[in-house]
Amino acid sequence: MSGETVAGDRYFQPEVETMARADLEAIQEAKLLDLLPYAYERSALINATWTEAGVHPRDIKSLDDFRERAPFISKDAIRVFRDDKGDPYGGLLCFDESELTAITSTSGTTGDPTLVPEVWGGERREDATPALVREFYEIGTRPGDYFTCILFTFRGAFFAMVHSLGAVPVFLDHHPGELRRFVELSLELRPTNLYNFSNVLISELARTCEEMKVDPRDVMSSYHGIVHGGEPLGTRSRKLLDEWGVAGFEHTAVGDAGAATECREHDGCHFWEDSVIAEHLDPDNNETVADGTRGELVVTALDNRTMPLVRFRSDDLVDLTRERCGCGRTHGRIKTAGRKGDEVVIDGQSVLPMDVWEAIERFDETAMGLFQIIRTGQQMDALRLRVGHDGSTKQPDELSDRLMGAVTEATGVTPEIELVPNDDLLRLGPPHKIPRVAKR
Ligand SMILES: [Zn+2]
Repeated sequence: MSGETVAGDRYFQPEVETMARADLEAIQEAKLLDLLPYAYERSALINATWTEAGVHPRDIKSLDDFRERAPFISKDAIRVFRDDKGDPYGGLLCFDESELTAITSTSGTTGDPTLVPEVWGGERREDATPALVREFYEIGTRPGDYFTCILFTFRGAFFAMVHSLGAVPVFLDHHPGELRRFVELSLELRPTNLYNFSNVLISELARTCEEMKVDPRDVMSSYHGIVHGGEPLGTRSRKLLDEWGVAGFEHTAVGDAGAATECREHDGCHFWEDSVIAEHLDPDNNETVADGTRGELVVTALDNRTMPLVRFRSDDLVDLTRERCGCGRTHGRIKTAGRKGDEVVIDGQSVLPMDVWEAIERFDETAMGLFQIIRTGQQMDALRLRVGHDGSTKQPDELSDRLMGAVTEATGVTPEIELVPNDDLLRLGPPHKIPRVAKR
C-alpha cells in the first residue's frame, strides 16, 4: 500500500493537531465568547431560543457556564421556524441572503435536502476553515497531486480545500453512471486521493471494471486512500478495497457542524476541536456521559459565521473518546452508532441499522447490504426487516432462514424478514444510499 510514503510527515498543522487539551479548550473558549453575541444578535432562531430560556450571552463567561446554561437547538426547532416563518434557513442565517456566494444542499436521504448556504472570498470567507484538509494531508495528498472529488450537490468547499493543499481537484458526479469516466480519468491522471465513495459505488466499480476489462488494482494503484462517507464502509466494500490494494477511510458528519474522518490508525473519526465544541450527552437527562461510551452528539460550530449552530442536538448516537490517538493527535474521535430516531427497542433490546448490517452483507445474495428496518415507533413488538437480494436464489425461504439466523446472532432478536429485489430498494435512494428505516 502506498500509505507508507507519507509516514513521518502526517500533520498538516502539527502544532494544532497535537495540541494539549488545556490549550485546545482555551481556543474553544475564546472563539465561543466571540461567537455568542454575534449569533444572538443576528440569528433569529438563536435569539428566540435564548430569550425563551432567559439566558443572555453576557451570562456566559466560560466553557463551564456554557455547558451549564446555554439552551439547546433541535432539528425540530429549525424545521418549525422554517415552516412557520417561511425562512428556508430556519432562522439561522446571520446576514442578508444577497451576501451569499453559493447555495448547495445535502443529499436528503432521511428527509428534505437541507440548504447549505456558503460564502467564498471577501470578509466572511469560510475557506480558511481546515475541515478535511488535515485528513486529506494525512491520507497522502501533496502539492501537484490530482484529487478526485466525487460529489453529490456541493462543490464550493472542495475547490478551497483541495487548493489549500496545492492539489488539483477533478470533479465527477456521485452516480454509478460516472464510473466509466472515473476509470478513464484514474488511469490517465493517476490521482492520489478520492472523496468520496459509497458502498453502492464500490460494488458498481467492480462491475464496471469487469465490463471494461480493466484491472481494478491498476485503476486504484495511484490512490493513497479513498474517503468513504454517508454510511459505514460495509464488509463487502472493505473486502473489495483490500483486493484492490487501497485503504478506505471512513468519514462522518459532526452533527452538521463539520466532518470527522479516520486517520491511518483507523480507530474512530477525528473531529477538530479548535473549530467545533462537541458534547456527548445522555439523551434522557442531558448529563455528559463517560469517555469511550455511547451518547448523543451535541455540537457548536465555532468557525461558521454564516449559519452557526449553537448547542445543536444532532440526534446522532456516537461513541466518543478524547484519548490521544495512536497517530499522536489530541482531538476527539467518534464512531457513529446511529441516529436516535432510527433506534428500535424490542423487549428492552436496542437495535440500530449498524447492528444488523454485517449479518445481512455476509451472504452473496444480499451482499449489497440493502435493507430497511420497519419502524412505527421506538418500542416495537418485533424486529421487521426488508432486505434486498440480487435475484439469484431459487429458494427464498432458505435465504430468509439464513438471514434470520445471522441477525439473531448479531442482535439477540429474531427478525421477521421480507425479501425484495435490490432494484426496488435502490429506487428509494438519491441513489448512493437508501433510508435505513421505513415507516411501513
Ligand atoms: Zn488518529
